[in-house]
Parts: sequence; structure tokens; C-alpha cells
Amino acid sequence: MPHKHPGDVAQALVDWFSAHGRDYPWRRTVDPWAILVSEIMLQQTTIPTVLGRYEVWLAQFPTPKHLAAATEQEALRSWEGLGYYRRVRALKAAAQVITEQFGGIFPEKEADIRALPGIGDYTVGAVLSFAYNRPAPLVDANVSRVFARLFNDRTPIDSPTGRKLHWKWAAEMVHPTNPRSYNSALMELGQTICTGSAPKCLTCPIRQWCRADKPEELPVKLPKKEITATEHRDILCIRENCILLEKQSAGNRHEGMFRLPKRSKAETDTLPLLATQKYSITRYKVTRRLYQAGGNTRPKENEQWIPLAELPNIPLASPDRKILVKQGF
Ligand code: SF4
Repeated sequence: MPHKHPGDVAQALVDWFSAHGRDYPWRRTVDPWAILVSEIMLQQTTIPTVLGRYEVWLAQFPTPKHLAAATEQEALRSWEGLGYYRRVRALKAAAQVITEQFGGIFPEKEADIRALPGIGDYTVGAVLSFAYNRPAPLVDANVSRVFARLFNDRTPIDSPTGRKLHWKWAAEMVHPTNPRSYNSALMELGQTICTGSAPKCLTCPIRQWCRADKPEELPVKLPKKEITATEHRDILCIRENCILLEKQSAGNRHEGMFRLPKRSKAETDTLPLLATQKYSITRYKVTRRLYQAGGNTRPKENEQWIPLAELPNIPLASPDRKILVKQGF
């Protein structure tokens, strides 16, 4: 046990949260579907972006049955701008299982929740504690940072040993009767007080139990993977009010979505350059150049002519949507 009195730490967090916890729409509900949606959205998207999309998305798909009945295209389109589309694909697959195997009622058993597509340890902990108020452990980057400092532990938090240790602590520390507030409190402490570069220890509700002597040096992480610069060239090709787009094939990160067609340097060297776009995705720094191609361009495999009038409704990868909007589409 990391502390002689883990209950005191847990209770202090719950008390602090009842006075200082932030009000988010997903904290006003105990509907497991709404909780699952918020957790999946928040996995790789910032809170301000999710706040702008969450309620609108849930109004479109208020129950698993609604998402199960949607086409893949509708589901992908609804996720545009949130990125990491495999999340909405997994959510749709989970909605289908809930609809087909549980009659549309969200399961309550841990094993059934864990078996849903795209659900990992964190999401299981979130649904069990936030929806059902069950004492389930939960570890995310914020929780890990708090634990590393609270226990003054230098095990890299992204190593297998570090992960195992933090999940063990999370299970030992969880508040037995108010896990809903406790898990929210732990994450919020990491977001607002025990922050990455400048922890506000003087206002920390668990300061008296904290063992960190140099909190700003914690948590320790494994060495970072190098950033790789990558470049690609795409074409903008319009013919008879249609645009040439490539449908992304199975196994692709953007499977089922459309992207502007790619072309080689030799194929684009003599074409007029329309725009240059730079963005980062995971460990890649992407530079993309968009060239104007003639209407007689031959479609390659998976490329098709899409009427311009359909452009607002089809699922397009976000960088493609952005560059097309800038081009006036
Ligand atoms: S006392 Fe400081 S380092 Fe320790 S948990 Fe609180 S904010 Fe983090």
C-alpha cells in the first residue's frame, strides 16, 4: 500500500472536488452511453473542442440504437474535425453490439463492457465509476502525473512496469463509496493543480501526503520518438461540377473517408501550385502541396468523381476539408 491512510487521501480529493470540481455536460449525466461518448471523444481531443461538439453529437445519436442504425458515412461525417476516426468506427461497432446483443440497453457487467469493441482499461474504469459509481480504477496521463509525484516515483510512466504500478495504485486508492467524484477529482487535480510544468502545491488538497521533493522533474517518461518530416503532393481536379477524390481503403487510418488524390513529384512538377499546408499528426510533421490539375486527369484506383454539391455531406479528412474550404469549396 503506497500510503498508511489511502482513505484520507481519497476523502480529501472527494471533498476538494465537491467544492472546486468543474461543471462539464458529461458530469451532469449518469447515462453510460453519454459517458462512453464523452470518454471516447476526450481521448485524443481537447476539452474545449469536445465541449463544442459533444451535445450536438449526442443529439444526433442519443442512444446506441441511433448510431447502430446510421450509415458509416453518416458516422464518419459526424466526427469530422475531431480526428482519429477509428474512434467513431469503434463507437459504432460498440453501438451495434449493444443493440444486437443487449437489446439497445447498455450492459452493466464489467466483462460485458470490457468486451465491447474499442474499449480499454481506462474506458472501462470511466464507465463503471462515472455511470454506475462502482469503485473501478482509472489511470490517464493526469492521474499518472499525480501518482508519480504523490509517491515520488521515478519509474517511467509509459513503460510496462510503470503502467502496471500506476494501475495497482489506482485500484488501491479508489474511494470505496464515492468513486465517481474521486476519479473525477484525481483527473482534475492533474489538469488544474498538479500540472505538468508548474504544480500549484500550495493550494493542493493532498499536499500533506505528497512525497515529491522536486515535483517539476516528475513524471519520468521514456525517451521520445523522433519527429519525422514527411511531404506529399495532392491535386485539385474539377470536371463538370465534380471533384476527383480518393476513397480510403480498408486498413487505412481514414478508412471509408475521402481525401484529395495524391500524385508524385514527376506528375505535379509542371502543374500550378495552389497552396501549401503544414500540420502535425502523431510523430509526423507533414508538408502538403496542392496542385491544380486539368479536368482530363485520369482517375487512379479508388479515385472517383464526386459532385461538388455532395461535398458538405461526405466524410472528408480534416486537413482536406480545411484546404478545400480555403480554396473556396
Ligand atoms: S503537492 Fe504538488 S506535487 Fe504533490 S500532488 Fe499536490 S500539486 Fe502535485
